[in-house]
Amino acid sequence: MRCAVYVRVSTDMEAQKSSIAHQKSYFEKYIENREWELYKIYQDIESGRSIKNRDGLQELMEDGRKNKFDMVLTKSISRFARNTLEGLILIRELKSEKIRFMTIEDGFDSEEYDEFMFTLLLSIAQKESEKMSERIKFGKLCRAKKGYYNGSNVPYGYKRIDKYHIVPAENVTLYVIRKIFSMYLQGNGLYKIAKELNNQGYPTPSQVAGKRNSTPIWHQSSIRKMLSNRFYVGDLVQNKNNQERIIVKNTHEPIIDLVTFEEVQKRLKEKGKKIFKNTHLFSGILICGECGSSMHYKKDKGAYICGKLNKMGKKYCKGAYIKEDVLRRTVCSQLKKIICENICKDSLIKEIEREVQIKDDEGQVGKIKKHLEKLEHKKERALDLLMDKIIDEKIYLKKIKKIEGERRINEEYMVNIVKKFTKRKFWIEEIVNEIFILDNIDAVCLNKLVQKIKVFHNKEVLIKYTFQIE
Ligand SMILES: [Zn+2]
Repeated sequence: MRCAVYVRVSTDMEAQKSSIAHQKSYFEKYIENREWELYKIYQDIESGRSIKNRDGLQELMEDGRKNKFDMVLTKSISRFARNTLEGLILIRELKSEKIRFMTIEDGFDSEEYDEFMFTLLLSIAQKESEKMSERIKFGKLCRAKKGYYNGSNVPYGYKRIDKYHIVPAENVTLYVIRKIFSMYLQGNGLYKIAKELNNQGYPTPSQVAGKRNSTPIWHQSSIRKMLSNRFYVGDLVQNKNNQERIIVKNTHEPIIDLVTFEEVQKRLKEKGKKIFKNTHLFSGILICGECGSSMHYKKDKGAYICGKLNKMGKKYCKGAYIKEDVLRRTVCSQLKKIICENICKDSLIKEIEREVQIKDDEGQVGKIKKHLEKLEHKKERALDLLMDKIIDEKIYLKKIKKIEGERRINEEYMVNIVKKFTKRKFWIEEIVNEIFILDNIDAVCLNKLVQKIKVFHNKEVLIKYTFQIE
């Protein structure tokens, strides 16, 4: 077994303990004990928190592609890559070259992990970071509830007069907004409206906003956005992209009357539905197992049918046919089976916790607790000094006051960390539970996990997963 070792050397004070020489001799012994063969030690130098040059890692990956060694040994995944996500991707690449990857500290061994686990971990890490950014939006949400406009750009047709107040712009943009609504109500489509605005050369939203990469071209998408923006009837809608929409009524002067607006919404919705119906969850990945042609969705039956059979008749293919909800249930239950067979729930939670570094928080809590103990000692010592008449009561009280202040700050800090920590733990468990329950599947998840589905005449369903290696 030819073994490549990857080490990261830090210029940090703290990390000097594990200097390069120390690390090297450690790995050498480790390899010797197992009667493996050391191929080469690759190294990168890290300063502060960032690794500027990653020549070592790149060389390692390059040599791996040339099959110069059979396995990679390193301290931990986090030592190997900038984050676990990146690590997983690199490990996956090594794996495709049939190179084993092992870490000593966290006991990771790529031979024990299959592709499914990788795919799953990647999608979980992504979900987790999405939830994090939701939290960041919280501050914005609080401000939105008070009815202040907190977008950076004022909607087209309005102008800002001070930090919190917005009024109709009284210029060409106000005219354009009214024109867009009235044209749409007269039965013109988005394309026609865009064309008319382009012909007239009216300033576009990005031009008015003074964006650097502004375009003079009106697009259908921006017109659609305007038509569905409640801001024009005087309401403030914030947090549009999230589930919790907040509408504060009458925060500013309207440009469009409510009747017009509601009628426009009704029509937009009707048009939207038609577009939505044409794309289906399994469209594009479904194949007739009998003849290999792609399957078509039949709206009236709520089912998929072999394309060949559908177009050319029974003579050409005896055909596959399956109801969408049946297919959905089958895919879900098969995925669920794989998940339950392959993954232990607890170890998955642990793995994710490591990913989001809950350990760090626990370490912090420990440090604060220690500090609080120290403060307690300080208090006792001050009391001793008072009793021994080394200090007088005035100095004693002053000292105590100072210590108490510090204690309060630290305790508050600790409570906050614990709160954050519990919340995050809850999220992780929630996400993992979602995965294990899996009673429905959405397009995003489906695309990530499923490559192709074959359906046969006898209704047999064969799934090819993205994480399957042929
Ligand atoms: Zn067919």
